[in-house]
Amino acid sequence: MSYPATSREIQLASRPEGWPADENFRLAEAKVPELQDGQILVRNTLMSVDPYMRGRMNDAKSYVPPFQLGAPLDGGAIGEVVESRAGTHKAGDTVLHSLGWREYAVLDARRARVIDTGIAPASAYLGAMGLTGLTAWAGLTKVAGFREGDAVFVSGAAGAVGSIAGQIAKALGASRVIGSAGSAEKVQRLRELGFDAAFNYHDGPVRDQLKAAAEGNGIDVYFDNVGGDHLEAAISVLNKYGRVAMCGAISAYNSTEPQCAPRNLFQAIGKELTLRGFIASSYNEYAGEFAELMAGWLRDGKVSYDETFVDGLANAPQAFIDLMKGANTGKMVVRLS
Ligand code: NDP
Repeated sequence: MSYPATSREIQLASRPEGWPADENFRLAEAKVPELQDGQILVRNTLMSVDPYMRGRMNDAKSYVPPFQLGAPLDGGAIGEVVESRAGTHKAGDTVLHSLGWREYAVLDARRARVIDTGIAPASAYLGAMGLTGLTAWAGLTKVAGFREGDAVFVSGAAGAVGSIAGQIAKALGASRVIGSAGSAEKVQRLRELGFDAAFNYHDGPVRDQLKAAAEGNGIDVYFDNVGGDHLEAAISVLNKYGRVAMCGAISAYNSTEPQCAPRNLFQAIGKELTLRGFIASSYNEYAGEFAELMAGWLRDGKVSYDETFVDGLANAPQAFIDLMKGANTGKMVVRLS
């Protein structure tokens, strides 16, 4: 194919106040830069939309820099190398990189990893085989210090990270895995995935439902994707020396007011709880070990993953908005071609 002159991309048009909306995004056409030595041109085929991107839409200091107004967004993407001026990559390679939200990406070849689609389909590298899976595994084993026999509660359990975290807990010998999600269909899906108990958090107070699901035995580990009422409920139901991996707090991401801490945080003292936040990329050194484990679990059918696909770059902003509202089961992925 001939070198493309322009590429369509999604730019941040304005910063959302509260919930993001269509007008915060702009579909634009930009010139594709000329390829320099060491660079590759990639035609993106798949891209990820993730809850953490909401934080990057604010003009606030965080562990990743904010998106710039009028500039394209970025994030995890898979594509095919179209042209290469790097010895390490050749045309036709399928690569994982971080310049999503655009049709074509020109980047330093060192920032693109060739993936093996013989192990898992390309899209899985945005989910179970990628950072999503690493987040679930590292959060459970390295952050919460999961031990065989632990009873585990996972919130956001039908989502990308949560569904994998629950299944890994089961594969590693949890005594009981409980999941919460936002619809009856998702609860049903959790049972199919092997969760011992699951509930819809819209059906009643999380604390009451969690307590009932634990059948009087409490929980030892809480994998927190949600924060707020879920964290408060978990603190109440956690056993002595319980451990919390604080992975995300999606219930707060679109809130315009700062949220209260769990009102029962004092219980952490008497129960000698550990609440520990983490960022998945801090565990990149384990990526190789994790990839081998996950490939085995997928092969043996111990872990399976769901994906929700949306088609077309122009629909990526809506896919992101819908993700925050729970339209996805498993990983939300945008297909670009
Ligand atoms: P998901 O696939 O789980 O999608 C987000 C889900 O959040 C939705 O499907 C929705 O499901 C649920 N949700 C939205 N609002 C609420 C609410 N108020 N209460 C309860 N659930 C809600 O996304 P990911 O798996 O990618 O991410 C899950 C969490 O992990 C996020 O908090 C994210 O920020 C965090 N994360 C953290 C990382 C780290 O390094 N620490 C890395 C990756 C993700 P439902 O229908 O059930 O409401």
